[in-house]
Amino acid sequence: MMLNSRDMLPFLEHLSKKREVYAPYGIRFSPFSGKPPDLNKKTRFSAKKLFLPPEETLFTFKGEKSTARIDAPRRVLFGARPCDLNAIKYMDMVFKDDPYYMKKRRNMLLIGLQCSRPEQFKNCYCHYTGTFFADNYDILLIEASGGFAAKAGTPAGRRLMKTVFFSKGGNPDSLLDALERKLDKKTKGKLKSANEIKDNVIRELARDCFSCTACTSVCPTCHSFTIEDELETDLESGKRVRKWDSCQLKRYTRVAGDVIFRPSRFQRVRQRIYCKFRYSLEDQKMMACTGCGRCIDVCNKGIDIFRVFG
Ligand code: SF4
Ligand code: SF4
Repeated sequence: MMLNSRDMLPFLEHLSKKREVYAPYGIRFSPFSGKPPDLNKKTRFSAKKLFLPPEETLFTFKGEKSTARIDAPRRVLFGARPCDLNAIKYMDMVFKDDPYYMKKRRNMLLIGLQCSRPEQFKNCYCHYTGTFFADNYDILLIEASGGFAAKAGTPAGRRLMKTVFFSKGGNPDSLLDALERKLDKKTKGKLKSANEIKDNVIRELARDCFSCTACTSVCPTCHSFTIEDELETDLESGKRVRKWDSCQLKRYTRVAGDVIFRPSRFQRVRQRIYCKFRYSLEDQKMMACTGCGRCIDVCNKGIDIFRVFG
């Protein structure tokens, strides 16, 4: 099926009558504004906040009584590229037992946008991480003459593709096959095994890093968080809040007795690298880095974590 360019805005308007629609505008995914989304750029921030908000109240309490609250509006994420779709796949595994994440995720439709070539944007590494394609979408759009060829990935996607906004035509599978063929030579340089990570390069990166946490904030798979109880002045009521944190901060591993488990910057940078390329493979059988390159885009010290593979 095809989604012609002229039908894209009416389709988004149709979706926004029933759901909150988020699409790429400028540096982030923002609510659909009625204007065409920026489909030719990489957003600086990922869509992670839609599933794991920077700050989220888990429950409120008064004395012994607590009331849980899960905020999970029906949403559509439109225009997420394969690196972000794969990041969501990874996060789905990490948070599979977390009702706050999973309810948001279940209420979210994913309409992905296939990149038309590897290294489409500066610092993209998806050809190394094997994430140029994704398989977890309701609909995948692939650029084609006059608009986008559309491929459904779920029954919900198939239902949407029966609306008037989609027309006959387009051949998404053959377009994807053509991309796959183009990719062959590129993927030869696929990421080497985690055993080839060079600790001496991590040491060099750590010398430059100043623990600003920009990289972990923009990363679609970094998910370190902290939990805080915020007490009202009556000292009886309050709320429990989950907030983004960062493994790059010294205080992240501080525990009672003022013990800090990763006091040196080398240990913290190594943690980020190992988490992306080793621990995730052991725990989730999937690399936690989907090669979006955002951490490189935002690092003021020009730190490129892929250098650890030499
Ligand atoms: S953005 Fe760069 S300097 Fe900042 S914490 Fe990350 S690696 Fe270090
Ligand atoms: S580690 Fe960097 S390149 Fe990999 S997913 Fe995170 S932000 Fe993207």
